[in-house]
Amino acid sequence: MELSSLFKQIFNKDVEATYIAPARVNLIGEHIDYNGGKVLPCAISCYIKGLVSKREDNQIVTYSTNYSNMFSSPVENIKYIKDNDWSNYVFGVFEILKQEGYKIPFGLNVLLDSNIPLGSGLSSSAALLDLVLYIANDMYNLNIDLKTIAKLAQKTENEFCGLKCGIMDQAAIALGKKDKAILLDCNKFEYEYKDISLGEYSFVILKTNTPRNLVDSKYNERVEQCQKALSLIRNKLKVNTLCELEVNQLEKAKQLINNELIYKRVRHVVTENDRVNRFMLALENKDINELGNLLNQSHISLKEDYEVTGKYLDTIVESALDSGAVGARMTGAGFGGCAIALIRTEEFSKFKESVESLYFKKTKIHPEVFQVDIVDGPTRIN
Ligand code: ADP
Ligand code: MG
Repeated sequence: MELSSLFKQIFNKDVEATYIAPARVNLIGEHIDYNGGKVLPCAISCYIKGLVSKREDNQIVTYSTNYSNMFSSPVENIKYIKDNDWSNYVFGVFEILKQEGYKIPFGLNVLLDSNIPLGSGLSSSAALLDLVLYIANDMYNLNIDLKTIAKLAQKTENEFCGLKCGIMDQAAIALGKKDKAILLDCNKFEYEYKDISLGEYSFVILKTNTPRNLVDSKYNERVEQCQKALSLIRNKLKVNTLCELEVNQLEKAKQLINNELIYKRVRHVVTENDRVNRFMLALENKDINELGNLLNQSHISLKEDYEVTGKYLDTIVESALDSGAVGARMTGAGFGGCAIALIRTEEFSKFKESVESLYFKKTKIHPEVFQVDIVDGPTRIN
């Protein structure tokens, strides 16, 4: 059924406006946004769509085709309800807007429909949050700029949904730009658009097709370990974030931390931030081998020091390298989800076939291997 007909059937009203927000992939700089690091994400051509109409009352009523269920809440009495899982992202946005002093004068019907894989590290959650903020901003004429949309989306995920995430996902989507990656300084919240065209080479996405579990609790545990590390070194080494540490200060940090596990987390963070800088240099020089090496080193660090990869991500990265990729790494929070690989574009079909077969042999799971375009951030399309 057409989405507009479905909308009419569910809400008994015509669609008044339609919006989209893209997914994102992070090229390098993983798990360092919440440590004041630099990251290099871009918005990609998978989308969540939101069809909207105004309501006469003050209810927010929302239906998702991805879940085939509907939730509603009055604007003045929004509560976090654990069992209503996905609707917390939608209602949370309105609650945070209210807390920030924005006026929500009437309710909305919102139909969601997404082809972003859910829970796969391509940030379907941030796409949803940014989309709902973008919709509210437009519908209520709130005059919120894109950077603030990203901040409010992060605040919603942190304070309402309970994930202590950094700013990367929400910013990558809100600030997305066609054919550009976003070099984002998460400490200052400043960004620059960067050209990442690499001639005969391009990045592709590899989806492990494994369910992620306990991601939120493991994610929050990593954030807490980093906070703990910072508290042990900040005065002595005079840093305000872990990413202010230089690689050559790691030995000093190790003595101060005096805990092997926490130190490994710090070593990942500091070397990963350094890899982002080297990646930028390699991009400028179009040094394909160096880009590949840095991707590989990033994955090893996430596997061994940060311990967020797991069997399926490790296997798909290995399969990619065995299929001719110049480099490959997990992307996103990890614990399952997606990886990226840098390949010679004309070899895509051969590469895809080989990864599918190698990964299936080892896991008995069919992966997905696909190319994406780099696209603009949220917009109203109708
Ligand atoms: P990721 O952001 O990597 O995709 P998350 O676990 O952070 O993974 O976010 C996935 C969650 O976001 C889903 O479980 C659901 O609650 C919510 N979500 C994302 N897209 C939709 C959608 N189209 N409809 C309803 N909920 C969605
Ligand atoms: Mg997410």
